[in-house]
Amino acid sequence: MTTPARPANRHHKRPRGEGQWALGFREPLNKNEENKKNDDGLNVRQRIIDIYSKRGFDSIDPADLRGRFRWFGLYTQRKPGIDGGKTAILEPEELDDRYFMLRVRIDGGQLSLEQLRVIADISNDYARGTADITDRQNVQFHWIEIESVPDIWERLESVGLSTTEACGDTPRVIIGCPVAGIDAEETIDGRDQIRDIYDRYIGDQAFSNLPRKFKTAISGCAAHCTVHEINDIAFVGVELADGTKGFDVWVGGGLSTNPMLGKRLGAFVSPERVHEVWAGVASVFRDYGYRRLRHRARIKFLVHDWGAEKFREVLEKEYLGYALPDGPSPELPRGGRRDHVGVFPQHDGNFYVGFAPRVGRVSGDQLHLIADIAERHGSRRVAATVEQKMVILDVAPDQVKSMVAELEAADLQVNPSTFRRQTMACTGIEYCKLAIIETKASASRLIDELEARLPDFTDPLTINVNGCPNSCARIQVADIGLKGQLVVDGDGNQVEGYQIHLGGSIGVNPGFGRKVRGLKATAADLPDYIERVARNFDSQKKEGETFAE
Ligand code: SF4
Repeated sequence: MTTPARPANRHHKRPRGEGQWALGFREPLNKNEENKKNDDGLNVRQRIIDIYSKRGFDSIDPADLRGRFRWFGLYTQRKPGIDGGKTAILEPEELDDRYFMLRVRIDGGQLSLEQLRVIADISNDYARGTADITDRQNVQFHWIEIESVPDIWERLESVGLSTTEACGDTPRVIIGCPVAGIDAEETIDGRDQIRDIYDRYIGDQAFSNLPRKFKTAISGCAAHCTVHEINDIAFVGVELADGTKGFDVWVGGGLSTNPMLGKRLGAFVSPERVHEVWAGVASVFRDYGYRRLRHRARIKFLVHDWGAEKFREVLEKEYLGYALPDGPSPELPRGGRRDHVGVFPQHDGNFYVGFAPRVGRVSGDQLHLIADIAERHGSRRVAATVEQKMVILDVAPDQVKSMVAELEAADLQVNPSTFRRQTMACTGIEYCKLAIIETKASASRLIDELEARLPDFTDPLTINVNGCPNSCARIQVADIGLKGQLVVDGDGNQVEGYQIHLGGSIGVNPGFGRKVRGLKATAADLPDYIERVARNFDSQKKEGETFAE
């Protein structure tokens, strides 16, 4: 019997590609891809130096302003006075201010005092004293004028810093343990690998047109402070049974919409091979990543569809040309907290001193003060953490007490409350064009309220405040994740507030917080709500139980 021919289906369409270059889809399928094809983002640097900084804001080509500027860490900031209700309904140009946010990458997080002072001077000379430490070891300035950018670059580059690929569809800052190389507990020091990748590939056009951003973490920190589970690629320090040290490689972690935890490839990477495995994974992403829809363009979607096994096979066969040996998974994090806040021994007999500015917000003057305090106590180095905190390195034992006293006197707390220590906030409506609500100031007030109401609360409790549904301050992995939105208060008015997510964590039992249906709080009610949650947890917890459990 012959099979009857299938009737022609008028609605049957050829499956549309995902815009994967490796499968022949080289033609741009959306505006962003078109802009990137028209001109590489890295080429905008020369136009900024030669044209825009000389002729001013109005001379900037819109495709550069809203696209390629990001390749050098520049975003227009939000025009003041536009409330969060207008965020989604106005055109991007209506939200654009004539000033910029400028992001400086600090790969690995460590800074010499000279570098810190250059950042402090730029803050005071060009950024109205602003400087935010981000949760990826960047520093962000605000109020930057286009005319100042070449001079800022010159100052940064004179001390080995840059803004190259700090934003955009590029390999972003490579985060590392702030106390790498000195921590008494670390498995392996990842700084050489970070430097190697930075020197070889940052600013290289081979990787300047990725489907979207590409975030890297490299660390051998025993507390796993770089949150490797939520990076696009992560190298995590491991030790083989014979004592050989190297890295376990993870791919495809990320938050925002459709949060996913990274997957282990199960491969052991020796220190000298890290840069080529990194380049191999970045190349898989560049060539096979989905470019049709921007919200599906992160590497996590490819990893999700392929699985770790296929991803590793393609990496090895098509890009590395050799098979990686299998390797062990990293040990579970030791030490509980990942933030390096407090006083801890280094392996050389000195100490490091971690402290907590308020939700990452510092100023040019404060950065100078930190440099002066460090220098007075014999230290020459500081570091930014991935929790919006800072650390002074290499402090001799007899200097610790006086340093702690000076930091605390400047409200840079070395022994902060849980709330100061573990509250993070994204940029929010003050500067961010996507924001719906204000974040930094309200998080700061929240800390004060909770410290006054719950002076004896000492359990770990992370509170992450975000100004919109994006997850720049990691809503989904906080004990209490707050997603900014407009909510209706008791009198029927639309006011700033939050959708609440509960019980997220990374580390020993990683998992995303649950969005509790209908659970929202106005910004004004938030302290009451968190106080209630904290008191309930405190009274009902069993021995050793964490909030997420
Ligand atoms: Fe802006 Fe939203 Fe990111 Fe906050 S979470 S910095 S409001 S995009």
